[in-house]
Amino acid sequence: MTVELICVGTELLLGNIVNTNAAWLAEQCAALGLSCYYQTVVGDNADRLAGILETGLERSDILILSGGLGPTQDDLTKETAARVCGKQLVEDARSLSRIESYFQERGLKMTDNNRKQALVPEGAIVVDNDNGTAPGIILEKDGKRIVLLPGPPNELIPMFEKSIAPYLLSLDPNGPSVIYSRTVKICGLGESGVETLITDLESLKNPTVAPYAKTGEVHLRVTARAEDEKAAKKLVKPVVKELESRFGRAVYTTKNEVTLEEAVVRLLKKNDLTAATVESCTGGLLAGRLVNVPGVSDVFKTGFVTYSNKAKRKQVGVKKETLEKYGAVSPQTAEEMAVGGAKAAGADVVVSITGIAGPDGGSEEKPVGLVYMACFVCGSVWVERFQFKGSRAKIRESAVAAALTLMRRGILEVFG
Ligand code: ATP
Repeated sequence: MTVELICVGTELLLGNIVNTNAAWLAEQCAALGLSCYYQTVVGDNADRLAGILETGLERSDILILSGGLGPTQDDLTKETAARVCGKQLVEDARSLSRIESYFQERGLKMTDNNRKQALVPEGAIVVDNDNGTAPGIILEKDGKRIVLLPGPPNELIPMFEKSIAPYLLSLDPNGPSVIYSRTVKICGLGESGVETLITDLESLKNPTVAPYAKTGEVHLRVTARAEDEKAAKKLVKPVVKELESRFGRAVYTTKNEVTLEEAVVRLLKKNDLTAATVESCTGGLLAGRLVNVPGVSDVFKTGFVTYSNKAKRKQVGVKKETLEKYGAVSPQTAEEMAVGGAKAAGADVVVSITGIAGPDGGSEEKPVGLVYMACFVCGSVWVERFQFKGSRAKIRESAVAAALTLMRRGILEVFG
């Protein structure tokens, strides 16, 4: 079956928002084994949208739309899809009562145009929205399907995972099947390094192995399709094991939902360790990543943001001579930041980051993107030099991922 993605919104056309829904939906469709040959972005214009729908119905089996289901005048996806399918809009009692309770529970006043969101094309399948007001809608026309999803990702993603993916799988002409996937998450290795070790596995058909590059990480998604979940899991398990043995300690988790910061926090807890951070060019981003993890307060003591030389001296005791002789961006300063941070915070594990995030401030000797980090673990210290590329934001983000990886590696070195 072929699928086509249509994202509706003038904001998308103007570049005011990034089309993350298209990227996310494309990935999901590929994992479901659906071939996607076209993606379109169209503004909030009924005639142009109708044209895209008509073309889409000629060339694809399933059209998945996002956006334009809201209550305002410019939200016209539902009306246009109904018109193209020759359907009237009728009030859906279940959706209306869900919308009423949504407003009641939040103590908000429901306006007349919110009522519009309970209108659905006659004969359509109505999909509950657990995180917003606009229900999802599935329409059928001459054996083709049109799936309408709300624009906000926090509504679209859970709706797709809970209701749309199982629906799409149920359409499989070979009989219903399930898709099961596990993600092997690797840190500290580049994408090309990872790919060279899995070239043989990338040609597998069931399960498939697909790499996704993230900042400072590579995720390998292993996906199987089978008649039930048990059979799909059985296909996935040996491949996950094989990847674990190929990448060893670089694998920080094989659980889809676990993030790198969570893996680090788990490691700290497992070994009964406390942690602190000392950051210069990342200005607290590393502490922020750690604090993403619920329950981090058991292990995380403090985060120093020592941006100026004075702060480096005052807060974590970096020596004046070190700063004068080697500079703020140097292995010596990074080491003193980590050791001094451990002392000041009374923490077992400390990572320090000092570097040049740019775009200015670089030199031939110390170019933009040069970052030194030190990791202190119960008296042992490692110092690392990194040369990151990209914008200021990208360099800072890469430094944080590398710092988490370094922290994890340091703990594993000492505690196994
Ligand atoms: P609402 O009921 O909130 O109005 P909607 O279905 O009408 O939802 P839109 O009005 O088109 O959706 O978009 C609402 C918000 O959802 C946008 O402002 C944007 O933040 C987000 N959004 C919409 N489309 C996309 C997209 N393709 N990618 C990422 N975010 C999107």
